[in-house]
Order: sequence, then structure tokens, then C-alpha cells
Amino acid sequence: MAQNARQGNGDDRWDEAFDVVVVGYGYAGAVAAIEAHDAGSQVLLIEKMADPGGISICSGGNVRTAEDADQAFEYLKVTCAGTTPDDVLRVLAEGMTEVPAYFERLAQVSGATIDRRPASGNYPFPGIDTFGYISIGSVPDFDPAERYPHVSSYMPIHRAAGVRLFKVIEDNLARREVAIWLEAKAERLLRGPDGEIGGLLIATRDGEKRIKVARGVILACGGFEADAEMQHQFWQEKPVLLAAFRGSTGDGIRMAQAVGADLWHMWNYHGTYGFKHPDPDYPYGIRSKRLPDWTPGRPPRSDVKMPWIVIDQVGRRYMNEYPPYMQDTAHRAMAAFDTLTQSYQRIPSYIVLDDDARGTYPLCSPTFNDRSMSFEYGDEALRALEDRIVFQADSIEDLARKLGAEDAVLRATIERWNTLCDAGEDADFGRPSPSMMKIAKPPFHYAEVWPICSNTHGGPVHNAQQQIMDVFGQPIPRLYAAGEMGGVFGHLYLAGGNMAECFVGGWIAGRHAAGLEPWGVSVMEPSVPGREKQVLRERQPARGATRA
Ligand SMILES: Cc1cc2nc3c(=O)[nH]c(=O)nc-3n(C[C@H](O)[C@H](O)[C@H](O)COP(=O)(O)OP(=O)(O)OC[C@H]3O[C@@H](n4cnc5c(N)ncnc54)[C@H](O)[C@@H]3O)c2cc1C
Repeated sequence: MAQNARQGNGDDRWDEAFDVVVVGYGYAGAVAAIEAHDAGSQVLLIEKMADPGGISICSGGNVRTAEDADQAFEYLKVTCAGTTPDDVLRVLAEGMTEVPAYFERLAQVSGATIDRRPASGNYPFPGIDTFGYISIGSVPDFDPAERYPHVSSYMPIHRAAGVRLFKVIEDNLARREVAIWLEAKAERLLRGPDGEIGGLLIATRDGEKRIKVARGVILACGGFEADAEMQHQFWQEKPVLLAAFRGSTGDGIRMAQAVGADLWHMWNYHGTYGFKHPDPDYPYGIRSKRLPDWTPGRPPRSDVKMPWIVIDQVGRRYMNEYPPYMQDTAHRAMAAFDTLTQSYQRIPSYIVLDDDARGTYPLCSPTFNDRSMSFEYGDEALRALEDRIVFQADSIEDLARKLGAEDAVLRATIERWNTLCDAGEDADFGRPSPSMMKIAKPPFHYAEVWPICSNTHGGPVHNAQQQIMDVFGQPIPRLYAAGEMGGVFGHLYLAGGNMAECFVGGWIAGRHAAGLEPWGVSVMEPSVPGREKQVLRERQPARGATRA
């Protein structure tokens, strides 16, 4: 039983006490909680939503692994382009070589199988061939649709490895005496006059609770793409639609800022382009069909066709619609701001395709972890959704009129595209040749496309121990980050890297926090303006936390 700080010791300042509190129950928070527990701490894991899982449960479930840590480090160093210190990248690279053994241990608990495969990095840099993916193959007696009816994972849920991994994570937590509170939102960190983090305020169904944290707080609260103001301040392009989860509101970033944290990588997100849902109450953008990644300078991994081109509001093609890793950079070209018209002429943009191309495959892939949403993945449902998003025009003239584009510009764009298709090479933007399809047969089809953020990378700066750093480069004592909240990627992303960070960063933070001596400060000062100082007796941390 978690010791109630109000019982037996005359101290009425705290509602409860734990050694380690982990904020956010996605993969990162879960791994941090498991590791802090196994290192001997009583752990409280809190989640503000009614259901755990965050973005994690919506994911593709592919975690990056590496055969050789030195090569993985070389690759990460180039892709992070000086935005992240070497020692931080090195521990991630080393951790990627340890992920498979860790996965084995987790999977055993559920009797799950594991899939492993080599998969090179996304860009042609040194170290590219050291990488692979690991994911959960099958979990016995597990029906994802029944267990997670509120989740849609951009594919039929029985094929989604992300939900299988989450089930394995839940099974592992259930074996441990970790207290788990749902609908419990961390609101403020509390710190002492010496700057150490010593507790936090949590809003729960039973009102606000003041929790003493004797060893450390781990912020694993995910990203900020669902916070309109942060988007507005940190990103040039706007608006950007969130892809999966409305709980990503940057809470952890603000709490860390309030105690002096430095920030990094705020501009960078795992992004692409996609559709706005026709229902104005549906809060998510819908990513366009994801095509297999490819590596410049190497033969394509697949000759899959992409049936569309992307054009701006004038009717010009302006980008490679199929960059090497669509989910990393496909939104970036949309950010151009036209100072003469004071507008984003590429937001929204339009995809255009012809009648032969229209039936190639479903273009939409809805994703969410949200009780108020539902979507039965299937051809019929996808077609019905697309009928509300993709429209028709009888001719190029009609298309120009419907898009508000310039007829002559649009006509020239399509003629040029068809010439490139005939030549078999996109001399303008370098799109892979096998993906090219002509736009010739009317009726033509079109849809608005917008920048879409799958998840953010930015947040508090952390060091190689996952300790959050202040603006003067010093660790804020007893405060940690894990997962995508302040991820390492500040330039180009490595597919599967977010989840590698959840695991590696989660286990580093959990073990490090659990290894600290419990604090014994006597005066606590909340970082909440207006609260008076409160006196606290020295006491030992609570023992024997249980599941709430
Ligand atoms: C469709 C899709 C597919 C993806 N596929 C992959 C993939 O295959 N491989 C990969 O590496 N990455 C993938 N990603 C990215 C990856 O899933 C995420 O980066 C990763 O899962 C983030 O995990 P996390 O634990 O850091 O955050 P989350 O899973 O978002 O968890 C954070 C949790 O913190 C909670 N929280 C927030 N604020 C508070 C608060 N104040 N108090 C309490 N709780 C709070 C949130 O509600 C949330 O549950 C994908 C992303 C998307 C959208």
C-alpha cells in the first residue's frame, strides 16, 4: 500500500508519497515505470486520459534496432546535424542494440511472438545498413478490436503491431506493483529552494492531490501537436492537422519550462500531408496513404504507384510528392509563405489524379486513440469516407475553376507532368520513376491536402541520463524526460526512432531516477504562483505502493 503521508507521522502536507512518479502512460512512461519498479522503487504511473496508450497505441509498432552501435551512432550524428550532443546519441545507438533482448523479456510475459527484420535507415548516410525493426508478431488470446475499441491504427486493427505491443506492455505492468491512476493529470511540478524536484500536483477525479516524490519525476507526456498556441508559436506553416491523439497538448513541456528547462527541436515534427475530415467535429487530419520508404541512390524497394501529384492554389506542382520517407518531410515544402499575397499558397494544396488512377487503392488512413471516435476499417467505410473528401471535375478547365487555380498554369502543370511520365523520369523534383502515373483520363479527381503532424520531436533538452537540462546547461535535479517529449531528432528522423527512444530513454530514466537517494529537504515551494511556502518534516519515502 502506498504510504499515505497524512497517516501516522503528523505530516499533513502530502496526500501520498512515492519514490518515482511517471507522467504519461504511453510506451515511454510504461517502460520507465517498469524499470523504476524493478530497480526497487515504489512507482506511480499517471495518465490524464480515461484510456492509456497515448499515441503509442496508434503506432505502427516498429521499433528501431541496430546491429552495431558505432555505425548507428554515425548515422544518427549525420541525421541530427549538430542539434543533439554526441553522448546523447551514443546511448540511443547503444540502446538500439539492446532493444531485441529487452523485447524478448517483455514478450515472454504475454507468450507473444516477435518479428525482426533488417531495414536500412531512411537516408544514404554512413551506418545506414546497421539497422532493423522489431515488433510484436502475435499475442495469444488477444482480440484487439474487443480490447481497444476506441483505437484506430491506420490499418485494420488486427494487423496493427502497435496495439499488440501495448497489450504486451500492459501485461508486463500488471505483473508489478505499480500504482496506475487514470484520469489523473499532472499540473505542476513542486520543487524545493535548492531547485530539486520533490513532488507534483495532480488533478484527479477526487480533486487535486499533492504527491511527494522522493526520488524523481519522469515526464513521458508525449508531444504538443494538439496545442494550437504552441503550433502557432513554433511552426512556420499553419494550420497543421494532428494525426492521431488529442492528448498531446505539451503539458510536460510547460511543466518543465516552469522549473527552468531549456527546449530543443521544437520546429521538427514527424509529418506528412493528408486530408481534413469532412466532419468539422472530427479533430484529426487523415494521413494520405503511406507508400514504402525508399533510399536515394538505391534501387526502389517497391514499384508501387502513387496516383496523384500535389499542386498549389495557383495550379503549380512544387514538390516531390513521394520523398524518401514520406512521414518525415512530406509537409516541409508546404511551409512557403508568400509575402506579396501574405498567404500560404500551399496550404491547403490539392492532390490531382485521373480516372484510371482513382481506384488504385484507398487514399485515406484514419488513426486515433479516442473514445468519442469510431471507424470500422474496411473497403466500404474507406470508400464512403473518401467520397466526402475526393471530388470530381469533368475537364481541366472545370478542375481549375473548382480549385480556384489559373487555367493556363494548371494545364501547363499537367502537360509537363505527363511529359515527365512519358520520359520515365521526374526531372523537376526527383520523384521515384516507378511511382509516376499520368493524369490523362477525365473525369479528374481532386482533394484538399494539409500539413499533418503524426507526432512532435521537440521538448525539454535532456542529457545522456535523460535528466532534463536547464537553460544554463545544468541538470534539473530529480527531473527526467522520456519518449518523444524532447526527442533527439532535430533535423531528419529515423523511422522507428521514436519508439526506440521510448524504450531506451524510458529504461535509462526509470533506472536512474530509482537509483537516487531519496530527498530530505525541509521547505517546499511549489512552482505555482500564489501558493505560500509550506513546511515539511524530513521523512523517509513511502514503501510498498500498489496498483490503484
Ligand atoms: C500513426 C502513427 C504511427 C507511428 N508509428 C511509429 C512506428 O512504427 N515506430 C516509431 O518509432 N514511431 C511511430 N510513431 C511515433 C510514436 O508512436 C510516438 O512517437 C511514440 O509512441 C510516443 O510515445 P510516448 O510514450 O513518448 O508518448 P505517448 O504515447 O503520446 O504517451 C504520452 C501520454 O502522456 C499523457 N499525458 C500528457 N500530458 C499529461 C499530463 N499532464 N498528465 C498525465 N498524463 C499526460 C498522454 O495522454 C499520453 O497518453 C507513430 C506515430 C503515429 C501517429
